[in-house]
Amino acid sequence: MSTDAADDYLLRHLEETGVELTGTVVVLGDRTGELPAALPMKDARPILVTDSFLAMEAARARAGDSATLLSTQDEPPERIDVLLVRIPKILALLEDQLHHLAPRLHEGSVVVGTGKATEIHTSTLNLFEQLVGPTRTSLAVRKARLIFAQPDVTRVRPHNPWPLSYPLPVDRKLGAIAGREVTNHAGVFCADHLDIGTRFFLQYLPVTHGGDHIVDLGCGNGVVGTAAALANPTAQLTFIDESYQAVASARATFEANVADPGDAQFVVGDAMSPVPDASADLVLNNPPFHTHRATTDLVAWRMFTGARRALRPGGQFWVVGNRHLGYHVKLRKIFGNCETVAGSPKFVILRAVR
Ligand code: SAM
Repeated sequence: MSTDAADDYLLRHLEETGVELTGTVVVLGDRTGELPAALPMKDARPILVTDSFLAMEAARARAGDSATLLSTQDEPPERIDVLLVRIPKILALLEDQLHHLAPRLHEGSVVVGTGKATEIHTSTLNLFEQLVGPTRTSLAVRKARLIFAQPDVTRVRPHNPWPLSYPLPVDRKLGAIAGREVTNHAGVFCADHLDIGTRFFLQYLPVTHGGDHIVDLGCGNGVVGTAAALANPTAQLTFIDESYQAVASARATFEANVADPGDAQFVVGDAMSPVPDASADLVLNNPPFHTHRATTDLVAWRMFTGARRALRPGGQFWVVGNRHLGYHVKLRKIFGNCETVAGSPKFVILRAVR
């Protein structure tokens, strides 16, 4: 892997303008580890801030000990001298992160954003303008653009709307989770409304028979696992997501709604890798179907094969997906069986047994 046009443009700009990469240099939102590894640092090491476990792992592999790694849920450094921002696809994540980082800038801090021209909109520039200070952009080069913001420490910033909470619909078909509040940190899947596929899934969640270990795989805001916990009060829950924002959201949603949390686990990790072999009774999954981090199919494949490995014999894997994605073909290959629990014109819920 090597840096792309957006990273190259930023690196060239830093070199040509002689920006001193000294003091506290923060890189926000890098996805591959290439940018922190390529920075011509003087006497400091960059601090990478990311919401993605996979990006964190990539940076660990690429930059090793030459970078400090922080998640978007960690406390940012107190004073930032250089802030380099790889523009994320999800604007809410940028908004929330700028709310956290901008107060730590000073008048002399250098702030440069970079991204594909198609990912930089007026709304992106407005965020820098509102939260950092006067903002301008570069010309597009190889379909990438830079953003320059001059920190204004006198700027009065609007209130950070994140994390956001909203009540689920009051609908009997949703069971005990109906009408409950869910909490969403910025950038989490369907952060301000219930996804229609998830809504369909909630209507058919299985009731187990006590003491079971249930995994909410790709938990997002934790609505599926929390509903499963309410329907199965003696079950032990594990919530997994590769997004730090998602796992923090799932914890908040679960703790606000489940009176006796038992020893629920909230884990940031890749697919089922945090779960030991043959240790789960039920895995519930609404797989990611578009992601900038890996191709959809690969993540779904890792989730499905990981679920089979981590289930006890007789344990069940339940998955909801768009009908056209054809998950039943993969499940038959991996588990040797697959049946349809429920279907709508758009979605199917499938069950495979280990
Ligand atoms: N379960 C939630 C719901 O139904 O609202 C979220 C479902 S969303 C379609 C898929 C989730 O998978 C996202 O929260 C995403 O961050 C997570 N995800 C993507 N890649 C992952 C990976 N490699 N390992 C674990 N989770 C991942």
